[in-house]
Amino acid sequence: MTSVDPTVNRADIEVRNPADGRVVGTVPNDSPDIVAAKVRALRAAQPEWEALGPKGRKVWMLRYQDWLIDNAGRIADVVQAETSKPRMDASIEGPAAADIFGFYARRAERFMADRHPTPHSPAVFPKRLAVVYRPYPVVGVITPWNFPFGMPALDIPPALAAGAAVLLKPSEVTPLSGVLLVQGWKEIGAPPVLEVTTGAGGTGAAVVDSVDYVQFTGSTHTGRIIAQRAGELLKPCSLELGGKDAAIVLADADLDRAAHGIAWGGMFNSGQVCISVERVYVEAPVYDDFLAKLTRNVEELRQGQDGDSFRFDVGALATPAQLAVVKRHVDEAVAAGATVVTGGRPTGVGNFFAPTVLVDVDHSMSCIREETFGPTLPVIKVADEAEAIRLANDSEFGLSATVWSGNKTRAARVARQLEVGAVNINDAFSNLFNFTLPMGGWKTSGIGTRFGGAAAVHKYCRSQAITTPRIPTTQKELLWYPYSRRKALFTLGILRSVTSRGLRKFGVSPRGRQ
Ligand code: NAD
Repeated sequence: MTSVDPTVNRADIEVRNPADGRVVGTVPNDSPDIVAAKVRALRAAQPEWEALGPKGRKVWMLRYQDWLIDNAGRIADVVQAETSKPRMDASIEGPAAADIFGFYARRAERFMADRHPTPHSPAVFPKRLAVVYRPYPVVGVITPWNFPFGMPALDIPPALAAGAAVLLKPSEVTPLSGVLLVQGWKEIGAPPVLEVTTGAGGTGAAVVDSVDYVQFTGSTHTGRIIAQRAGELLKPCSLELGGKDAAIVLADADLDRAAHGIAWGGMFNSGQVCISVERVYVEAPVYDDFLAKLTRNVEELRQGQDGDSFRFDVGALATPAQLAVVKRHVDEAVAAGATVVTGGRPTGVGNFFAPTVLVDVDHSMSCIREETFGPTLPVIKVADEAEAIRLANDSEFGLSATVWSGNKTRAARVARQLEVGAVNINDAFSNLFNFTLPMGGWKTSGIGTRFGGAAAVHKYCRSQAITTPRIPTTQKELLWYPYSRRKALFTLGILRSVTSRGLRKFGVSPRGRQ
């Protein structure tokens, strides 16, 4: 009988450019044993990293921030090679990563500082209270393919700032950017607390099994599998999952801005953004005007593969499977009575699908119920604000939404009725660029949040409570043995006085009064 050596990588993974299919690199398909070995090495290096403290870690994180800026072109090249994004979209990922590394490097000292809460009652006043933040030793960051450099960079900086070591498992569709991200950390000579493991779902599952905390970004389907496994292992996880973001255009909106913002919010990165606008509800009085403007904007988009010329607005879809989903949603909608206003089909080259606007759609169609993750904008006419809110909330997803209105009070009132983790008023994506806000999905769009200032660092920590006597101690505390009637009367008297109000503090319970 032949046995397979589990420490040897299975067949390598070929990485292809989605626009022309050419192979742009290969990476190993790491076995569970290789993942476990990488986690062991990270675990060994982590205590020294934690011991550096936030100030010491800041030095390395800021050096890495410099590396990101100095290598922005190199990063864009790799991102573009494996995604075929337009140069503009590919060029954003490095600087965005630099912004996040810089923010957490500089703020970590404050975020990680011990807290000293005030005792909740005079009875516990004799103790000085402290909450200290101790990192999970090894955090696994599992990421999708839509922002192969930017996505890992959302979650790695706060984990490193917290003092954790990090194992990145990038998508098997676009692993080269993740490999470069970690290579950069090594190039600056930083401590060996950031590593990458490449492979498909099996490698990801091994990461879940080996690390101490799982940060997952990807589909709701995979999120459920990870949540189940994390549940079995009683391992904390944070899940950033799929979305079906609604845009609500109210009759008092600046229609030009709404039509430009929604065209960008729906088509940026070919619609492959978790917080893409995926459905649009427009109040009846402005529906025709808005649709005409939106259609014109979408028709003007230039689609193609632009190298470093910044010539195109929209690129290809990442995989043939993704192209098939988009095509199915459009075809099913049309078969059920929808009308294609523009686009509506693959262009016939690579994984390109023409930017599409659909009308005559309803809530029974897959283009409204399922996440499309492609360049499609189904538009629905609604009678009023109430109908827009009801339809926007009629979804299993709850990631984010946009509201377009000339009246900020009205827009905020609508925002507060939407069942989503973030609402951008008169803009798309802006919450994502504000690291002091939490980003997380409601309903099946996720569990937990990323960012949110200190919360992003605290989530990678176990909080430890420490009590210390504030006043000189005696031989025994009041409650310690031996018990006696006298001690009970005295102790319970004090307890009553600190746990009740009014006359009850003094042992009197007035009849008929609450
Ligand atoms: P995916 O779920 O197929 O894969 C994501 C990652 O999980 C990949 O690295 C994959 O190898 C890994 N994986 C697969 N099976 C696994 C398993 N059993 N255990 C552990 N890891 C496993 O998602 P995708 O197709 O790469 O990405 C698209 C999805 O990501 C969309 O649904 C999109 O909305 C979502 N997304 C969400 C956010 C957010 O912040 N909410 C951001 C970007 C993308």
